[in-house]
Amino acid sequence: MLSYRHSFHAGNHADVVKHIVEMLIIENLTQKEKGFYYLDTHSGVGRYRLFSQESEKTAEFEEGIARLWQRDDLPEEVQRYVDLIKKLNYGGKELRYYAGSPLIAAQMLRPQDRGLLVELHPTDFPLLRNNFKEFKNIIVKRDDGFQQVKATLPPKERRGLVLMDPPYEMKEDYDLVVNAIVEGYKRFATGIYAVWYPVVLRQQSKRIVKGLEASGIRKILQIELAVRPDSDQRGMTASGMIVINPPWQLEAQMKKILPYLTNVLVPEGTGSWSVNWIVPE
Ligand code: SAM
Repeated sequence: MLSYRHSFHAGNHADVVKHIVEMLIIENLTQKEKGFYYLDTHSGVGRYRLFSQESEKTAEFEEGIARLWQRDDLPEEVQRYVDLIKKLNYGGKELRYYAGSPLIAAQMLRPQDRGLLVELHPTDFPLLRNNFKEFKNIIVKRDDGFQQVKATLPPKERRGLVLMDPPYEMKEDYDLVVNAIVEGYKRFATGIYAVWYPVVLRQQSKRIVKGLEASGIRKILQIELAVRPDSDQRGMTASGMIVINPPWQLEAQMKKILPYLTNVLVPEGTGSWSVNWIVPE
């Protein structure tokens, strides 16, 4: 089943948190001269037109990136993220385009770094390939992203980030991410793994937490922003990132940024945030 299209959701509050975490991890990786490997297991198309039929239909970006666009009081880390998006918008007066996770990474990769972008969807894959044909150190592949974790780790660089962002339209994805991390970790225990998850029903996202707790893997940080309290009604109330082997600054950076993001992205006052160790060092 491949009905999920990220263009309906691009730039929403979940993307904002996901892409800030991604950017902060990559900033940390680029502090060392030695190259690193970036694997995006579920890439989407990489670049989104916010005034397309899909985006306009849901207008989710209006409650995400659009709320940060004109502000002059952004924390420095959030400013750097907005600047990355501004680059795609020819300097930034008008918000027309949004970067997917592959384009956040591609803008930050240096010549010594290497990226693999994986996407399975028959329509999205050619769009992804087209969007990245100019990037010399990026390969685009049509495959199951979880398979590529097994197939390409450990990377020759012995440093890297694996970003896993499945659609969770199939409930198995909650277990498949845990399996993929366990397989990846066996091959590459020093790698950084970042998994995005939605909170639709809390029991489902807890499967990931429980699976990882049971795996024996240590150093697992959970970062979450909720726009509403948990509920058994339809719809996503929160989303987050689970990061294995996070850079040491990430916890403090997110504890500083999330109160700001919660206020600005959820002006209704129903929001909350958390940063917790699922398993400490
Ligand atoms: N990571 C992207 C971003 O932040 O811009 C968004 C990815 S979107 C949430 C999930 C994507 O995974 C969709 O484009 C979908 O077609 C793709 N997909 C679904 N199952 C997949 C699989 N097994 N392997 C690779 N891609 C898959």
